[in-house]
Amino acid sequence: MLKEGLKLVISGPSGSGKGTIVKELIKSENFKLSVSATTRAPREGEKNGVHYFFKSREAFEKMIVEGELLEYAAFCENYYGTPKVFIEECVRAGKDIILEIEVQGAKQIKAIYPDAIFIFVVPPTLKELEKRLVGRNTETKEVIQKRLERAKEELSLYKEYDYIIINDNIEQAAKYIQEIVRIEKLKSHRFQEAISTLVNNQGGI
Ligand code: ADP
Ligand code: 5GP
Repeated sequence: MLKEGLKLVISGPSGSGKGTIVKELIKSENFKLSVSATTRAPREGEKNGVHYFFKSREAFEKMIVEGELLEYAAFCENYYGTPKVFIEECVRAGKDIILEIEVQGAKQIKAIYPDAIFIFVVPPTLKELEKRLVGRNTETKEVIQKRLERAKEELSLYKEYDYIIINDNIEQAAKYIQEIVRIEKLKSHRFQEAISTLVNNQGGI
């Protein structure tokens, strides 16, 4: 019996390692990544339609007006948003969809999909966070500073999430998320249909 896939929302301060962990997770066919739209400029190596749908401000605002986004938020002076298409299709096909989004977007998703699973990735220390952002070498000093300031605000929202992952080791962090998925799939509410089939003696689980 094909069960719906899970909706996983992964947030955490910029530089905490969300992208790196997600890259590890999507090596498995069962995970799919929701590709967001953004007005931020592509980083070196980022491809349109793979890492993001890169949009002008006008094009992004048109997506908002036309109701194409499930959620959106402004983060450090750029827009980021989740396109509606794809998510439902993915979960119906039994795939676990990952939304790697910031805290304001996560709150909107919680209102739309209360059954989504909310995971918050935190760095071991703020010093390490800064080291990672500097080491990534993708933003200017000013933008890094803004992201670090934003990080403290985001960290204060940790209680909005179901699970906390301390990312001091990428493989371990990815493994924890795989374990969360395994456990979430054993939750009783996901077995309603299967148990009723069993009780009515119409087949096994
Ligand atoms: P985010 O997507 O949260 O902004 P990234 O995945 O881009 O963060 O990671 C930021 C930087 O930190 C990258 O250069 C990445 O290689 C590095 N990084 C991620 N996780 C770890 C870790 N556990 N230990 C050391 N470096 C890490
Ligand atoms: P970055 O510029 O580092 O790729 O992303 C900046 C922040 O925007 C990160 O916290 C990332 O999770 C978040 N983000 C990426 N896509 C979306 C989205 O579709 N919606 C929202 N709300 N945040 C997003």
